Order: sequence, then structure tokens, then C-alpha cells
Amino acid sequence: MKKEIENKLIDKNTKPTSMRILVYDFLRSQESALSLSEVEHHFENADRTTIYRTLKTFEEKGIVHSIQENTTTKYKLCDDGCNEKMHKDWHLHFYCKICKQTTCREDISFPENTKTNFRIDEVRLFAKGICENCLESLQ
Ligand SMILES: [Zn+2]
Ligand SMILES: [Zn+2]
Ligand SMILES: [Zn+2]
Repeated sequence: MKKEIENKLIDKNTKPTSMRILVYDFLRSQESALSLSEVEHHFENADRTTIYRTLKTFEEKGIVHSIQENTTTKYKLCDDGCNEKMHKDWHLHFYCKICKQTTCREDISFPENTKTNFRIDEVRLFAKGICENCLESLQ
């Protein structure tokens, strides 16, 4: 399993240090996007700057994408299609007002083949509402 993560990092031009492998593994196990402080909380004994730098490097290399949520930035692993030149996470990010989780909704996305005579570098789609789990418990 560690080997698999190593290869993923190398594929994205990123040196697989042990901290990077741990952070990657943790992010992979999460369904929702996490803020820096949530990641820090999980790695209590690690240096906070290292965690911050790890997430920044991941973002630059197309390994995670960030989601801006009011004043918080959250991070989620990218699909294989992202790299250091371009992120392709043009899908909806959905914030649930009840459980306060932000999730990637890949099934709702901005069409990549949109023809324009201007250049799109980045697309951010963000919605707020109540997720399916919370809706169910409201009934
Ligand atoms: Zn991405
Ligand atoms: Zn919810
Ligand atoms: Zn996403």
C-alpha cells in the first residue's frame, strides 16, 4: 500500500517523503474535504509547518485541490487528471449547513470542452445546502 502511494507521488513529480505518504494516506481515507487545522489535529506530533508545506506542495503538484469556504481553505485529493500545470477539478463543491462537511460532487461539473475565445484557467463551483445524510435524519 505504501508502495502504491509512493508511485502516485512520483507520478506527480513529487518526492515521496514519509510525511507526504502519511498525509496522502490520511486524505485518501476521508470522504470530505479537510481544513489545515483538521489535518494538523490528526498529526498532533508532527510539525505544523511541515503539514502546511506538504499541503501546499500537493496543491502545486496537482495532488490536492483547495476549496475556499468563507475564511477557511479545505483540501481534497484530486483525480488522476490533475498535474502541476493544470487542475481539472471543475466539479461542484457542496457544503452542508448541518454537518458542516464539504464534499466533492464529481457528477455535477463544468463542461471541460466549453469553447470560448478566452482562456479559462480555473473554475470554482460552490453550493450550500443540506446533504443526503442530514436530509434523511430530518425526516
Ligand atoms: Zn486537482
Ligand atoms: Zn450534512
Ligand atoms: Zn473537489
